[in-house]
Amino acid sequence: MILFDPAVNAEWLDYGILIPFPQDRPRKIVDFLGKAAGRFPGPVLSLEEALAALGEKTPFVVERDDVELAHKKEYVDALFQRDDDEALALALLTIYELLDENGAPRRYDPAIAVKTMRDLFETAVLGRLAGSYVAARLALESADGFCYYLSGGNHHARYDGGAGFCVLNDMVWTARKIQHEGRARLVWIIDVDAHKGCGSAELVDFIRRGVNPHRFEAGCDIITLSVHMARGWPLDAETLAASLPGRAPSIPSDIEIPIEAGEEALYNQKLKEGLGRLSRLSGERTCDLAIVVDGADPYEKDGLESSALLRLTLAQLVERDNLIYAFLRARGIKSAWLLAGGYGERAWEPAAYFLHSLTDGED
Ligand SMILES: [Zn+2]
Repeated sequence: MILFDPAVNAEWLDYGILIPFPQDRPRKIVDFLGKAAGRFPGPVLSLEEALAALGEKTPFVVERDDVELAHKKEYVDALFQRDDDEALALALLTIYELLDENGAPRRYDPAIAVKTMRDLFETAVLGRLAGSYVAARLALESADGFCYYLSGGNHHARYDGGAGFCVLNDMVWTARKIQHEGRARLVWIIDVDAHKGCGSAELVDFIRRGVNPHRFEAGCDIITLSVHMARGWPLDAETLAASLPGRAPSIPSDIEIPIEAGEEALYNQKLKEGLGRLSRLSGERTCDLAIVVDGADPYEKDGLESSALLRLTLAQLVERDNLIYAFLRARGIKSAWLLAGGYGERAWEPAAYFLHSLTDGED
């Protein structure tokens, strides 16, 4: 099934944010699938419908204490402190790159804002945590074991701060929450966004090493696989390293597959090898849930300059997703897919054509 919660796609202008990328990608995907009248992977559920199907209360509340399963307490406190909107605003403006080096607004005009930064945090940031978690629950509890959430995938968010437009890491948080609730033990994060899943790798490493005091419950683990551009942001990001003093800019995922510019023809073969390594690394353990960070930004038609070093065709991207889908299906592994990166007029195409391709093989 597909989970579609348009509320998380904030209208930037409402907050005074002058970012040129429209937020209509999920709607375009739903419209395309509607026209295609596919029988699978439908239906398209709203967050409310999904919560009702799961027997959960509406609205879903992301508890501050739960967020500490993935992120540092001090960072979580700064975001959630309701009597300190300035701390929250500063964090969001920094993460969304809306301040210049002197701290003056850039691509941001607070005078035209009609909504607050607190509202942006609660709808766009906490809303994505809720959506990714609900998608995982739908995947775990539905007969076909598959849910595609038309949002989420904020994989750059680090342990004690946000980065690269990502405030909180919805996939590691989701994995930790379902583990904490006893719904899963081993979770895989399969990240095929153009950019490296550096935040997820760091959060998992910090849980394993006890930097995060909330350790894995007995028998629980998260294994990360990232296929990404070998160069470019965030791997060459001095500003990212500088924002996290004393820290490596990028902790490796458990399985790293860097793709050099010009290696596009090898992409799916390398991904296939990576999936095999993921399976071997898990040994005798069964993976209870795979979270797929299904970025569309490796697309040759993507509008973001920072993903220009990887230029897959639409056919290669649909093949990529089908490869992951078939690999998981063959092993009976349930999966929650997140839309992740993808910018510009045609960024809706990879996920839409992948989801439509699933209609072909079903009775
Ligand atoms: Zn990306």
